[in-house]
Amino acid sequence: MADVVIVGGGQAAASAVARLRAKGFDGSITLIGDEPVPPYQRPPLSKAYLLGDMALDRLFLRPEAFYRDNAVHLMLGEPVTAIDTDARTVSVGDEAIPYGDLILCTGSAPRRLPARIGGELDGVHVVRTLADVDAMAPRFAEGARVLIVGGGYIGLEAAAVAATLGLDVTLVEAADRILSRVAAPETADWFRALHETHGVTILEGTGLDRLTGDGHVSGAVLSDGREIAVDFVVVGVGIAPCTTLAEAAGLRIDNGIAVDAHGRTSDPHVWAAGDCASFPGAGGAMRLESVGNAIDMGELVADNLMGAERDYAAAPWFWSDQYDVKLQIAGLSAGYDRVVVRDGAGRSHWYYAGDSLLAIDAMNDSRAYMVGKRLIEAGKAPDPAAIADPETDLKALLKA
Ligand code: ADP
Repeated sequence: MADVVIVGGGQAAASAVARLRAKGFDGSITLIGDEPVPPYQRPPLSKAYLLGDMALDRLFLRPEAFYRDNAVHLMLGEPVTAIDTDARTVSVGDEAIPYGDLILCTGSAPRRLPARIGGELDGVHVVRTLADVDAMAPRFAEGARVLIVGGGYIGLEAAAVAATLGLDVTLVEAADRILSRVAAPETADWFRALHETHGVTILEGTGLDRLTGDGHVSGAVLSDGREIAVDFVVVGVGIAPCTTLAEAAGLRIDNGIAVDAHGRTSDPHVWAAGDCASFPGAGGAMRLESVGNAIDMGELVADNLMGAERDYAAAPWFWSDQYDVKLQIAGLSAGYDRVVVRDGAGRSHWYYAGDSLLAIDAMNDSRAYMVGKRLIEAGKAPDPAAIADPETDLKALLKA
């Protein structure tokens, strides 16, 4: 079969590689990643790994032997600088590497604070790669003063690690509440209270005016004029898909590298998977930033590259760990008009739009998560009164 080149070395790339070989793909596979390490799990970076509870070798998705045994040629620490879709080559340094099919798994990059407000001072960190987290981890020392910019899950996870390690933590969120992009006020309220019991200061409706310092960051001026002293800063203000390479190659972009339901881009020999890809959803093009999506799209593209003609059916799920709380999320809540609260084994928030169940946030309640996920995927919506009643046997709802 035609040779496959994969650009990017994250979860989607690892998923595509494993699936191609599992399905008997017998062409050559070359994985080219600009990070110096083979594919690893990113989610623990802002959780167990930063906390020091997870060793480096457990981050890797596959041992090095896997790539050797499966004849996967790894080119690591080397960026692809151009794609020539006519010649069907990618450029790495001076080399032009030919492909039969190309899979773009370029992922996404964290938004950074602009240099004019101090974004390039030493001690200002983003959370995306192993190198990012290795650079900030030594600063997580008891008593250090950290400013977290952004109250999404990345910012909140970093705040939880910092508070657990005894740092003095202030988090600023420019919007009127934390988690406004992804969760209901009920979930935001629950997590705000959790962080406050751990001593984190959360300032909502408060942006960052600028960071100050001579070389190294030492202070922050907030949008309300307040000035605070800081030892370092963690920025979690969202991510943007890496589309530059695809765009320069003339591929269609639509809030991500646009692919069809099979994962194919506007060029028949180029595919895309994971955070960087925007695919046809019910309400138009959509893009998901999650491990589940990276795994599923990686497999989809591998299957379709081998002729399966399978359509993508996204089943979104996410998780977050903060303190002793495991949050599990299924579905997408956008467009909800009602949140039903259930106090069962743990706590869960069920998002409805009219009679449809859209999504669930489950805090320390894996049964609610599992049932909610299966109901959402089956297009079923239980009576909200039954959900709210702690006496209801959730599993029975699956059979109804
Ligand atoms: P992530 O996945 O990095 O957590 P999200 O987009 O879910 O990303 O959350 C980022 C949060 O950062 C949003 O709630 C957004 O309102 C907030 N934010 C963005 N820019 C700033 C800023 N300059 N100061 C404070 N908060 C910001």
